[in-house]
Amino acid sequence: MNLFPLTAHELLDLIKSKAATPQNIFQSLSERTASVEGQVKAFARTRDEKTVLAEIDPAANVPLPITIKDNICIKGEETTCASKILKGFRPPYSATVIEKLRQKGCVVQAQANMDEFAFGSSTENSAYGPTRNPWGLDRVPGGSSGGSAAAVAADEAIWALGSDTGGSIRQPASFCGIVGLKPTYGRVSRYGLIAFASSLDQIGPLTKDVTDCALLMNLIAGHDERDSTSADVPVPDYTKALIKDVKGMKIGIPKEYFIEGMDPEVKQAVDAAVEVLRKAGAVFTEVSLPHTEYAVATYYILATAEASSNLARFDGVQYGLRAQPEKTRKTPLIDLYEETRDKGFGWEAKRRIMLGTYALSSGYYDAYYLRGLKVRTLIKNDFDSVFKEFDAVITPTSPSTAFKIGEKAADPLSMYLSDIYTISANLAGIPAISIPCGFSKEKLPIGLQILGKPFAEETLLRIAYTYEQNTGWHKERTSL
Ligand code: GLN
Repeated sequence: MNLFPLTAHELLDLIKSKAATPQNIFQSLSERTASVEGQVKAFARTRDEKTVLAEIDPAANVPLPITIKDNICIKGEETTCASKILKGFRPPYSATVIEKLRQKGCVVQAQANMDEFAFGSSTENSAYGPTRNPWGLDRVPGGSSGGSAAAVAADEAIWALGSDTGGSIRQPASFCGIVGLKPTYGRVSRYGLIAFASSLDQIGPLTKDVTDCALLMNLIAGHDERDSTSADVPVPDYTKALIKDVKGMKIGIPKEYFIEGMDPEVKQAVDAAVEVLRKAGAVFTEVSLPHTEYAVATYYILATAEASSNLARFDGVQYGLRAQPEKTRKTPLIDLYEETRDKGFGWEAKRRIMLGTYALSSGYYDAYYLRGLKVRTLIKNDFDSVFKEFDAVITPTSPSTAFKIGEKAADPLSMYLSDIYTISANLAGIPAISIPCGFSKEKLPIGLQILGKPFAEETLLRIAYTYEQNTGWHKERTSL
Protein backbone atom coordinates (compact mmCIF):
# COMPACT_ATOMS: atom_id res chain seq x y z
CA MET A 1 0.00 0.00 0.00
CA ASN A 2 1.20 3.52 -0.77
CA LEU A 3 1.41 5.50 2.44
CA PHE A 4 2.05 8.98 1.02
CA PRO A 5 -1.55 9.79 -0.01
CA LEU A 6 -2.93 9.11 3.49
CA THR A 7 -3.91 11.63 6.15
CA ALA A 8 -2.18 11.97 9.52
CA HIS A 9 -5.07 10.34 11.38
CA GLU A 10 -5.10 7.39 8.97
CA LEU A 11 -1.34 6.98 9.36
CA LEU A 12 -1.56 7.17 13.16
CA ASP A 13 -4.15 4.35 13.04
CA LEU A 14 -1.78 2.27 10.90
CA ILE A 15 1.07 2.88 13.35
CA LYS A 16 -1.16 1.86 16.25
CA SER A 17 -2.22 -1.36 14.57
CA LYS A 18 1.41 -2.00 13.58
CA ALA A 19 0.53 -1.98 9.87
CA ALA A 20 3.11 0.78 9.26
CA THR A 21 6.08 2.29 11.06
CA PRO A 22 7.01 5.97 11.16
CA GLN A 23 10.15 5.04 9.21
CA ASN A 24 8.05 3.43 6.42
CA ILE A 25 5.95 6.57 6.29
CA PHE A 26 8.92 8.88 5.99
CA GLN A 27 10.46 6.67 3.31
CA SER A 28 7.24 6.68 1.33
CA LEU A 29 7.14 10.49 1.46
CA SER A 30 10.80 10.67 0.38
CA GLU A 31 10.10 8.48 -2.64
CA ARG A 32 7.09 10.55 -3.53
CA THR A 33 9.14 13.73 -3.19
CA ALA A 34 11.86 12.29 -5.42
CA SER A 35 9.28 11.61 -8.13
CA VAL A 36 7.23 14.85 -8.12
CA GLU A 37 9.28 17.62 -6.46
CA GLY A 38 11.13 18.40 -9.70
CA GLN A 39 7.79 19.50 -11.15
CA VAL A 40 6.17 21.10 -8.08
CA LYS A 41 9.14 22.76 -6.35
CA ALA A 42 7.31 23.02 -3.05
CA PHE A 43 10.39 22.99 -0.85
CA ALA A 44 13.03 25.58 -0.07
CA ARG A 45 15.10 22.71 1.35
CA THR A 46 14.58 19.18 2.57
CA ARG A 47 16.36 17.79 5.59
CA ASP A 48 18.94 15.07 5.37
CA GLU A 49 17.23 11.63 5.42
CA LYS A 50 19.57 10.10 7.96
CA THR A 51 19.04 13.00 10.36
CA VAL A 52 15.27 12.70 10.04
CA LEU A 53 15.31 8.93 10.53
CA ALA A 54 17.51 9.32 13.60
CA GLU A 55 15.08 11.88 15.07
CA ILE A 56 12.04 9.60 14.74
CA ASP A 57 10.91 8.13 18.06
CA PRO A 58 8.44 5.36 17.17
CA ALA A 59 7.13 5.32 20.74
CA ALA A 60 6.13 8.99 20.63
CA ASN A 61 2.53 10.17 20.53
CA VAL A 62 2.58 11.60 17.00
CA PRO A 63 5.74 10.28 15.29
CA LEU A 64 4.96 11.84 11.91
CA PRO A 65 6.98 14.05 9.56
CA ILE A 66 5.80 17.62 9.04
CA THR A 67 6.69 20.39 6.59
CA ILE A 68 7.35 23.88 7.96
CA LYS A 69 7.07 27.20 6.13
CA ASP A 70 10.51 28.77 5.73
CA ASN A 71 9.67 31.70 8.05
CA ILE A 72 9.39 29.62 11.23
CA CYS A 73 12.71 29.38 13.08
CA ILE A 74 14.33 26.01 13.63
CA LYS A 75 17.41 26.13 15.83
CA GLY A 76 20.59 25.56 13.85
CA GLU A 77 18.79 24.98 10.52
CA GLU A 78 18.95 27.54 7.74
CA THR A 79 15.73 29.62 7.79
CA THR A 80 15.47 32.34 5.15
CA CYS A 81 11.85 33.46 4.48
CA ALA A 82 12.78 32.66 0.86
CA SER A 83 14.88 35.83 0.84
CA LYS A 84 18.45 36.34 -0.29
CA ILE A 85 18.96 38.66 2.65
CA LEU A 86 18.69 35.74 5.10
CA LYS A 87 20.91 33.38 3.13
CA GLY A 88 22.86 31.26 5.57
CA PHE A 89 20.93 32.48 8.63
CA ARG A 90 20.69 29.74 11.26
CA PRO A 91 18.43 30.80 14.13
CA PRO A 92 19.88 30.37 17.63
CA TYR A 93 16.50 29.11 18.92
CA SER A 94 13.43 27.25 17.68
CA ALA A 95 9.92 28.67 17.43
CA THR A 96 7.52 27.57 20.16
CA VAL A 97 5.43 25.65 17.61
CA ILE A 98 8.53 23.64 16.62
CA GLU A 99 9.25 22.78 20.25
CA LYS A 100 5.64 21.78 20.80
CA LEU A 101 5.57 19.56 17.72
CA ARG A 102 8.85 17.92 18.70
CA GLN A 103 7.60 17.22 22.21
CA LYS A 104 4.82 15.11 20.69
CA GLY A 105 7.21 13.31 18.34
CA CYS A 106 6.72 15.19 15.07
CA VAL A 107 9.86 15.45 12.95
CA VAL A 108 10.60 18.32 10.58
CA GLN A 109 10.91 16.83 7.10
CA ALA A 110 11.34 19.94 4.95
CA GLN A 111 11.05 23.72 4.87
CA ALA A 112 8.54 24.98 2.37
CA ASN A 113 8.93 27.64 -0.28
CA MET A 114 6.99 30.89 0.16
CA ASP A 115 6.73 34.44 -1.09
CA GLU A 116 9.72 36.38 0.25
CA PHE A 117 8.90 37.42 3.85
CA ALA A 118 5.32 36.22 3.16
CA PHE A 119 4.70 39.16 0.80
CA GLY A 120 2.42 37.83 -1.90
CA SER A 121 -0.45 35.64 -3.01
CA SER A 122 1.29 33.38 -5.52
CA THR A 123 4.69 32.13 -4.22
CA GLU A 124 6.25 33.82 -7.25
CA ASN A 125 8.14 36.32 -5.05
CA SER A 126 10.67 33.77 -3.85
CA ALA A 127 14.46 33.79 -4.09
CA TYR A 128 14.12 30.07 -4.93
CA GLY A 129 11.81 30.62 -7.90
CA PRO A 130 8.09 29.86 -8.08
CA THR A 131 6.28 26.81 -6.72
CA ARG A 132 3.81 25.18 -9.12
CA ASN A 133 0.25 24.14 -8.38
CA PRO A 134 -0.02 20.31 -8.34
CA TRP A 135 -3.50 20.58 -9.94
CA GLY A 136 -2.10 22.44 -12.95
CA LEU A 137 1.63 22.97 -13.26
CA ASP A 138 1.18 26.20 -15.22
CA ARG A 139 -0.75 27.66 -12.26
CA VAL A 140 0.34 29.31 -9.03
CA PRO A 141 -0.30 27.42 -5.78
CA GLY A 142 -1.42 30.66 -4.10
CA GLY A 143 0.66 32.34 -1.45
CA SER A 144 2.39 33.15 0.55
CA SER A 145 2.34 29.63 2.09
CA GLY A 146 2.23 28.15 -1.43
CA GLY A 147 5.05 25.69 -0.81
CA SER A 148 3.33 24.27 2.28
CA ALA A 149 0.01 23.91 0.44
CA ALA A 150 1.52 22.43 -2.72
CA ALA A 151 3.55 19.90 -0.72
CA VAL A 152 0.39 18.65 1.00
CA ALA A 153 -1.71 18.62 -2.18
CA ALA A 154 1.03 16.76 -4.08
CA ASP A 155 1.31 14.22 -1.21
CA GLU A 156 4.93 15.16 -0.60
CA ALA A 157 3.93 16.11 2.94
CA ILE A 158 1.25 14.69 5.22
CA TRP A 159 0.58 18.09 6.72
CA ALA A 160 2.30 21.43 7.07
CA LEU A 161 2.47 24.69 8.97
CA GLY A 162 1.97 28.02 7.26
CA SER A 163 1.50 31.60 8.42
CA ASP A 164 -1.38 33.91 7.58
CA THR A 165 -1.18 37.72 7.72
CA GLY A 166 -3.85 38.47 5.13
CA GLY A 167 -4.82 35.07 3.74
CA SER A 168 -1.54 33.22 3.30
CA ILE A 169 -2.83 29.93 4.73
CA ARG A 170 -6.40 30.03 3.43
CA GLN A 171 -5.85 31.20 -0.16
CA PRO A 172 -3.18 28.59 -0.98
CA ALA A 173 -5.35 25.95 0.73
CA SER A 174 -8.18 27.03 -1.56
CA PHE A 175 -6.00 27.00 -4.72
CA CYS A 176 -4.54 23.58 -3.85
CA GLY A 177 -7.75 21.84 -2.74
CA ILE A 178 -6.80 21.30 0.92
CA VAL A 179 -7.83 22.55 4.37
CA GLY A 180 -6.19 25.66 5.87
CA LEU A 181 -6.99 27.35 9.17
CA LYS A 182 -5.97 30.79 10.37
CA PRO A 183 -6.52 30.63 14.12
CA THR A 184 -7.69 33.55 16.26
CA TYR A 185 -4.94 36.12 16.79
CA GLY A 186 -3.16 34.96 19.94
CA ARG A 187 -4.32 31.33 19.78
CA VAL A 188 -0.94 30.05 18.56
CA SER A 189 2.38 31.45 19.76
CA ARG A 190 4.25 33.62 17.25
CA TYR A 191 7.54 33.23 19.13
CA GLY A 192 10.09 32.31 16.48
CA LEU A 193 7.89 33.28 13.52
CA ILE A 194 9.90 35.84 11.55
CA ALA A 195 7.56 38.83 11.68
CA PHE A 196 5.82 40.34 8.65
CA ALA A 197 3.06 42.37 10.35
CA SER A 198 3.07 41.54 14.05
CA SER A 199 -0.52 42.60 14.75
CA LEU A 200 -1.88 40.36 11.95
CA ASP A 201 0.43 37.30 11.72
CA GLN A 202 -0.76 33.88 12.90
CA ILE A 203 0.69 30.40 12.41
CA GLY A 204 -1.76 27.66 11.42
CA PRO A 205 -2.27 24.21 9.87
CA LEU A 206 -2.50 23.12 6.22
CA THR A 207 -3.92 19.59 6.04
CA LYS A 208 -5.62 17.05 3.80
CA ASP A 209 -8.84 17.02 5.82
CA VAL A 210 -10.65 18.66 8.72
CA THR A 211 -9.76 15.90 11.19
CA ASP A 212 -6.05 16.49 10.63
CA CYS A 213 -6.62 20.22 11.05
CA ALA A 214 -8.12 19.57 14.52
CA LEU A 215 -5.25 17.22 15.41
CA LEU A 216 -2.62 19.74 14.39
CA MET A 217 -4.37 22.53 16.31
CA ASN A 218 -4.21 20.34 19.41
CA LEU A 219 -0.45 20.17 18.93
CA ILE A 220 0.30 23.86 18.36
CA ALA A 221 -2.33 25.97 20.20
CA GLY A 222 -1.85 27.54 23.60
CA HIS A 223 -0.47 30.35 25.69
CA ASP A 224 3.24 31.07 25.59
CA GLU A 225 4.90 33.46 27.99
CA ARG A 226 7.55 34.19 25.35
CA ASP A 227 4.87 35.77 23.11
CA SER A 228 3.14 38.55 25.02
CA THR A 229 0.34 38.65 22.44
CA SER A 230 -0.50 34.98 22.88
CA ALA A 231 -3.77 34.52 24.74
CA ASP A 232 -4.11 32.82 28.10
CA VAL A 233 -7.28 31.01 27.07
CA PRO A 234 -7.67 27.26 27.79
CA VAL A 235 -7.10 25.00 24.78
CA PRO A 236 -9.96 22.60 24.10
CA ASP A 237 -9.51 19.16 22.52
CA TYR A 238 -10.30 20.24 18.97
CA THR A 239 -11.07 16.69 17.85
CA LYS A 240 -14.18 16.86 20.07
CA ALA A 241 -15.54 19.45 17.64
CA LEU A 242 -15.58 16.92 14.79
CA ILE A 243 -19.33 16.47 14.95
CA LYS A 244 -21.39 15.82 11.85
CA ASP A 245 -24.26 18.05 12.81
CA VAL A 246 -25.03 21.73 12.27
CA LYS A 247 -28.71 21.67 13.15
CA GLY A 248 -29.93 25.10 14.20
CA MET A 249 -26.59 26.82 13.65
CA LYS A 250 -27.03 30.36 12.39
CA ILE A 251 -24.75 31.31 9.53
CA GLY A 252 -24.55 34.70 7.83
CA ILE A 253 -23.83 35.31 4.17
CA PRO A 254 -22.33 38.81 3.81
CA LYS A 255 -23.87 40.55 0.85
CA GLU A 256 -20.75 42.67 0.26
CA TYR A 257 -18.79 39.53 -0.67
CA PHE A 258 -20.98 38.41 -3.53
CA ILE A 259 -20.10 41.14 -5.91
CA GLU A 260 -18.90 41.62 -9.45
CA GLY A 261 -15.47 40.24 -10.18
CA MET A 262 -16.18 36.86 -8.64
CA ASP A 263 -15.65 33.97 -10.99
CA PRO A 264 -19.11 32.44 -11.76
CA GLU A 265 -17.74 28.93 -11.12
CA VAL A 266 -16.65 30.02 -7.64
CA LYS A 267 -20.10 31.47 -6.95
CA GLN A 268 -21.81 28.28 -8.11
CA ALA A 269 -19.64 26.10 -5.89
CA VAL A 270 -20.21 28.30 -2.85
CA ASP A 271 -23.98 28.43 -3.47
CA ALA A 272 -24.00 24.63 -3.71
CA ALA A 273 -22.02 24.37 -0.45
CA VAL A 274 -24.57 26.57 1.28
CA GLU A 275 -27.31 24.19 0.07
CA VAL A 276 -25.45 21.19 1.52
CA LEU A 277 -25.21 22.87 4.92
CA ARG A 278 -28.81 24.08 4.74
CA LYS A 279 -29.94 20.49 4.17
CA ALA A 280 -27.82 19.49 7.16
CA GLY A 281 -29.86 21.89 9.30
CA ALA A 282 -27.95 25.19 9.30
CA VAL A 283 -30.00 28.36 8.98
CA PHE A 284 -28.67 30.94 6.51
CA THR A 285 -29.45 34.66 6.47
CA GLU A 286 -27.99 37.50 4.44
CA VAL A 287 -25.93 39.84 6.64
CA SER A 288 -24.00 43.04 6.06
CA LEU A 289 -20.35 43.82 6.78
CA PRO A 290 -20.52 47.40 5.53
CA HIS A 291 -16.82 48.31 5.76
CA THR A 292 -15.65 45.40 3.60
CA GLU A 293 -14.85 47.68 0.69
CA TYR A 294 -12.11 49.39 2.73
CA ALA A 295 -10.42 46.18 3.86
CA VAL A 296 -7.83 45.85 1.09
CA ALA A 297 -6.70 49.48 1.36
CA THR A 298 -6.58 49.34 5.15
CA TYR A 299 -4.61 46.11 5.14
CA TYR A 300 -2.04 47.31 2.64
CA ILE A 301 -1.39 50.42 4.74
CA LEU A 302 -1.15 48.71 8.12
CA ALA A 303 0.63 45.55 6.92
CA THR A 304 3.26 47.46 4.93
CA ALA A 305 3.79 49.93 7.81
CA GLU A 306 4.47 47.06 10.20
CA ALA A 307 6.59 45.25 7.63
CA SER A 308 8.77 48.30 7.00
CA SER A 309 9.64 48.53 10.67
CA ASN A 310 10.02 44.75 11.16
CA LEU A 311 12.41 44.53 8.21
CA ALA A 312 14.60 47.41 9.42
CA ARG A 313 16.68 44.86 11.37
CA PHE A 314 17.99 43.21 8.20
CA ASP A 315 20.95 45.43 7.46
CA GLY A 316 23.91 43.11 7.04
CA VAL A 317 25.05 43.39 10.65
CA GLN A 318 23.33 40.60 12.55
CA TYR A 319 21.60 38.28 10.09
CA GLY A 320 22.39 36.43 6.88
CA LEU A 321 23.77 38.33 3.91
CA ARG A 322 26.44 41.03 4.28
CA ALA A 323 27.26 42.91 1.07
CA GLN A 324 29.92 45.60 0.56
CA PRO A 325 29.99 47.95 -2.42
CA GLU A 326 33.16 47.92 -4.47
CA LYS A 327 33.78 51.62 -3.92
CA THR A 328 33.06 53.70 -0.84
CA ARG A 329 30.02 55.91 -1.54
CA LYS A 330 29.03 57.39 1.83
CA THR A 331 30.43 56.06 5.08
CA PRO A 332 31.45 52.40 5.25
CA LEU A 333 28.58 51.56 7.61
CA ILE A 334 25.87 53.28 5.55
CA ASP A 335 27.35 51.67 2.43
CA LEU A 336 27.10 48.27 4.08
CA TYR A 337 23.43 48.80 5.03
CA GLU A 338 22.48 50.09 1.59
CA GLU A 339 24.34 47.50 -0.41
CA THR A 340 23.02 44.63 1.72
CA ARG A 341 19.42 45.80 1.51
CA ASP A 342 19.68 46.52 -2.21
CA LYS A 343 21.17 43.11 -3.00
CA GLY A 344 19.23 41.16 -0.40
CA PHE A 345 15.60 42.23 -0.84
CA GLY A 346 13.49 41.34 -3.87
CA TRP A 347 11.20 43.81 -5.67
CA GLU A 348 8.05 43.14 -3.67
CA ALA A 349 9.91 43.51 -0.36
CA LYS A 350 11.36 46.83 -1.54
CA ARG A 351 7.94 48.01 -2.71
CA ARG A 352 6.42 47.23 0.68
CA ILE A 353 9.23 48.83 2.66
CA MET A 354 8.74 52.02 0.64
CA LEU A 355 4.93 51.99 0.97
CA GLY A 356 5.12 51.32 4.70
CA THR A 357 7.80 53.89 5.38
CA TYR A 358 5.73 56.47 3.52
CA ALA A 359 2.58 55.63 5.50
CA LEU A 360 4.51 56.05 8.77
CA SER A 361 6.43 59.20 7.82
CA SER A 362 5.71 62.26 9.95
CA GLY A 363 3.83 64.13 7.21
CA TYR A 364 1.51 61.24 6.38
CA TYR A 365 1.18 59.26 9.60
CA ASP A 366 -2.19 60.78 10.51
CA ALA A 367 -3.55 60.63 6.98
CA TYR A 368 -2.64 56.99 6.38
CA TYR A 369 -1.48 54.91 9.33
CA LEU A 370 -3.73 56.43 12.00
CA ARG A 371 -6.68 56.42 9.65
CA GLY A 372 -6.00 52.78 8.78
CA LEU A 373 -6.10 51.90 12.47
CA LYS A 374 -9.50 53.58 12.81
CA VAL A 375 -10.96 51.77 9.82
CA ARG A 376 -9.57 48.51 11.20
CA THR A 377 -11.72 49.07 14.30
CA LEU A 378 -14.79 49.69 12.14
CA ILE A 379 -14.15 46.40 10.30
CA LYS A 380 -13.84 44.58 13.60
CA ASN A 381 -17.06 46.20 14.85
CA ASP A 382 -18.88 44.92 11.75
CA PHE A 383 -17.97 41.35 12.69
CA ASP A 384 -18.76 41.88 16.40
CA SER A 385 -22.27 42.97 15.57
CA VAL A 386 -22.88 40.06 13.14
CA PHE A 387 -21.55 37.57 15.69
CA LYS A 388 -24.02 38.83 18.31
CA GLU A 389 -26.63 36.92 16.36
CA PHE A 390 -24.74 34.44 14.20
CA ASP A 391 -22.43 31.50 14.87
CA ALA A 392 -20.42 31.91 11.68
CA VAL A 393 -20.15 33.69 8.35
CA ILE A 394 -19.60 31.94 5.01
CA THR A 395 -17.84 33.35 1.94
CA PRO A 396 -15.65 32.15 -0.91
CA THR A 397 -11.95 32.06 0.06
CA SER A 398 -10.81 33.70 -3.17
CA PRO A 399 -12.69 35.34 -6.05
CA SER A 400 -11.03 32.96 -8.53
CA THR A 401 -9.35 29.60 -8.89
CA ALA A 402 -5.55 29.42 -9.22
CA PHE A 403 -4.34 31.90 -11.83
CA LYS A 404 -1.52 31.28 -14.30
CA ILE A 405 2.10 31.72 -13.28
CA GLY A 406 3.13 35.19 -14.48
CA GLU A 407 -0.46 36.37 -14.98
CA LYS A 408 -0.51 38.91 -12.15
CA ALA A 409 3.21 39.17 -11.41
CA ALA A 410 3.61 42.47 -13.25
CA ASP A 411 0.47 44.00 -11.75
CA PRO A 412 0.79 44.24 -7.95
CA LEU A 413 -2.55 46.00 -7.59
CA SER A 414 -4.54 43.16 -9.16
CA MET A 415 -2.57 40.74 -6.96
CA TYR A 416 -3.49 42.78 -3.86
CA LEU A 417 -7.16 42.95 -4.87
CA SER A 418 -7.34 39.17 -5.09
CA ASP A 419 -6.97 39.09 -1.27
CA ILE A 420 -10.35 40.75 -0.84
CA TYR A 421 -12.08 37.88 1.01
CA THR A 422 -9.29 36.81 3.36
CA ILE A 423 -7.89 40.08 4.70
CA SER A 424 -10.78 41.07 7.00
CA ALA A 425 -10.30 38.08 9.31
CA ASN A 426 -6.75 39.24 10.08
CA LEU A 427 -7.80 42.85 10.60
CA ALA A 428 -10.54 41.67 13.00
CA GLY A 429 -8.31 39.03 14.65
CA ILE A 430 -10.94 36.31 14.17
CA PRO A 431 -10.45 32.65 13.09
CA ALA A 432 -11.23 31.53 9.54
CA ILE A 433 -10.91 28.22 7.74
CA SER A 434 -10.80 27.33 4.04
CA ILE A 435 -12.05 23.92 2.93
CA PRO A 436 -12.36 22.41 -0.55
CA CYS A 437 -15.85 22.83 -2.03
CA GLY A 438 -15.52 21.68 -5.62
CA PHE A 439 -13.63 22.13 -8.88
CA SER A 440 -13.82 24.36 -11.92
CA LYS A 441 -14.33 22.90 -15.41
CA GLU A 442 -10.55 22.93 -15.77
CA LYS A 443 -10.34 20.79 -12.62
CA LEU A 444 -8.90 23.52 -10.43
CA PRO A 445 -9.96 23.46 -6.76
CA ILE A 446 -12.38 25.99 -5.24
CA GLY A 447 -12.32 26.96 -1.55
CA LEU A 448 -15.10 27.79 0.90
CA GLN A 449 -14.26 30.13 3.78
CA ILE A 450 -15.96 29.96 7.19
CA LEU A 451 -15.30 32.75 9.70
CA GLY A 452 -16.15 32.72 13.41
CA LYS A 453 -15.97 34.54 16.72
CA PRO A 454 -12.64 34.91 18.50
CA PHE A 455 -11.59 31.51 19.92
CA ALA A 456 -14.50 29.73 18.20
CA GLU A 457 -12.24 27.47 16.12
CA GLU A 458 -14.42 24.57 17.32
CA THR A 459 -17.48 26.05 15.61
CA LEU A 460 -15.54 26.37 12.36
CA LEU A 461 -14.25 22.80 12.59
CA ARG A 462 -17.73 21.49 13.25
CA ILE A 463 -19.28 23.23 10.26
CA ALA A 464 -16.30 22.27 8.09
CA TYR A 465 -16.45 18.65 9.22
CA THR A 466 -20.17 18.40 8.58
CA TYR A 467 -19.69 19.78 5.09
CA GLU A 468 -16.71 17.54 4.35
CA GLN A 469 -18.47 14.39 5.54
CA ASN A 470 -21.51 15.25 3.39
CA THR A 471 -19.45 15.82 0.25
CA GLY A 472 -15.99 14.28 0.02
CA TRP A 473 -14.05 16.77 -2.14
CA HIS A 474 -11.04 16.27 0.12
CA LYS A 475 -10.62 12.74 -1.20
CA GLU A 476 -9.79 13.91 -4.74
CA ARG A 477 -6.08 13.62 -5.60
CA THR A 478 -4.00 15.30 -8.32
CA SER A 479 -2.90 13.34 -11.39
CA LEU A 480 0.80 13.72 -10.49
N1 GLN B 1 -1.42 38.13 0.04
C1 GLN B 1 -1.32 38.96 1.19
C2 GLN B 1 -0.11 39.86 1.06
O1 GLN B 1 0.48 39.84 0.05
C3 GLN B 1 -1.25 38.13 2.44
C4 GLN B 1 0.07 37.55 2.70
C5 GLN B 1 0.12 36.81 3.99
O2 GLN B 1 -0.90 36.45 4.56
N2 GLN B 1 1.32 36.59 4.46
O3 GLN B 1 0.22 40.58 1.95
